[in-house]
Amino acid sequence: MADNRKEQTRNQWLDMLEKYKFDSDAPATDQIWSEKLECASRDELISIQNDKLKVVTPFLYENSDFYRRRFDKLDLAPTDIQTVDDLTKWPVVDKTEMMEDALAHPPYGTYSTMDQELWDTRGWMMFSSSGSSGVPRVFRYSHVDRDLWEWANARAIYSFGVRPDDTVFLASGYGPHVFAWGVQYALQRMNVASIPGGGMTTDMRANIVDRFKPTVLCCTTSYALHLGRVMEEKGLDPAASSIRMLFVGGEPGTGIMNTRNRLKELWGAEMREFYGCTEVSPHSGGYSCSHAEISGDVVATHLMEDHQIWELVDPDTMEPVAEGERGITVATSLLSESSPQLRFNVGDYTVYSTEQCGCGRTHVRAMGSFAGRSDDLINLRGVKMYPVQLEQAVRAVPGIGDEYEILIETDEAGVDMMTARVEHADDISAQVINEIKTRCEVTVGVEMLAPGTLPKTEFKAKRIRDERDK
Ligand SMILES: [Zn+2]
Repeated sequence: MADNRKEQTRNQWLDMLEKYKFDSDAPATDQIWSEKLECASRDELISIQNDKLKVVTPFLYENSDFYRRRFDKLDLAPTDIQTVDDLTKWPVVDKTEMMEDALAHPPYGTYSTMDQELWDTRGWMMFSSSGSSGVPRVFRYSHVDRDLWEWANARAIYSFGVRPDDTVFLASGYGPHVFAWGVQYALQRMNVASIPGGGMTTDMRANIVDRFKPTVLCCTTSYALHLGRVMEEKGLDPAASSIRMLFVGGEPGTGIMNTRNRLKELWGAEMREFYGCTEVSPHSGGYSCSHAEISGDVVATHLMEDHQIWELVDPDTMEPVAEGERGITVATSLLSESSPQLRFNVGDYTVYSTEQCGCGRTHVRAMGSFAGRSDDLINLRGVKMYPVQLEQAVRAVPGIGDEYEILIETDEAGVDMMTARVEHADDISAQVINEIKTRCEVTVGVEMLAPGTLPKTEFKAKRIRDERDK
């Protein structure tokens, strides 16, 4: 009987997929891949979300022990959550809860709807969350997910303006991370050629750009900086290269103005961004459009709302905030066979606008894009700041090296101190102190280093070194 319900709810969910799978194989227009979904009215979008949600909750209840226990504990039935308005009955799921579940139920935990039987039947790939410290949480995805992934990512990359006459160079180590793999498979769906750049040194990658002339560079934000600088060291000018578009993801990108401007100048290229996380894959999550750069200092990133429900909540109360107010992102994934999370705390700060975009899409936009995860908050003697604020500050200093490090340690008197370790040929410490003081309201020490001293970022940047006494 129980197995029956398990299968029944999965099949209901699979049937639902077909209903809204518009333009899965090829784009509908020369600008918008799935026009019916991306330009649906706000009311239509909510009705799609409700329709999907009411099959997702019973599917979760029957196929994930983590979710079943949570429903039971809250004294809720899946039928209690059938519409977007019902969601607030369900407290936001945090990654610590998932970690505890993974510890108690090794090695996979029970927070996904993937079981061994499904894995043996149509398992596709296992990914691991690249999040900060803690127990590794893995996510096994199916071929149904792969198909949805290709479609969702194709829609997003098409929205960037990538077309079949482009060649995308994926300067990534791939690994068990969703980013490059999701892009790789989507490019195939889009009939766009690619050069997979896994397992290469930066020097080799610089040579690839120079010799084989890819038009789009796909990598993390910090790696785009590093690769550009290595090209310069080799006497090559990235701005004069074949790269016309930087396609970044994996860390805050377009939302940090000083980093964005630095990259655009370095490469003489447009910048587009992918946003999301392993837990609520498959998806593109957030994606830029041709109107991503609204003005010099405002960027916006759409969120794919027919695939996911994107809420914004207050980080302290976890209550939804009104449109236009700042909050952190919470996602419900409606289109995942293996990881249909309900109100997962993705935790990035932004502000939403549901006003229709100049590109014609109706999907909500994160104004100013995303500026880092709420759990990265730094508390220095009671003053709170985010790594992105420090990044914005350091990069405001002209000519400063791309790499820097923020060291936080406890001095002999037991006081926590912050030191910015930066590279510049001249002593620009006063400027660094001033920029950080202005933005973060703390006075820091500065250690001046000769250019090229700090290690280069190869994947995601690790710029905060917290060595405080606990
Ligand atoms: Zn748009």
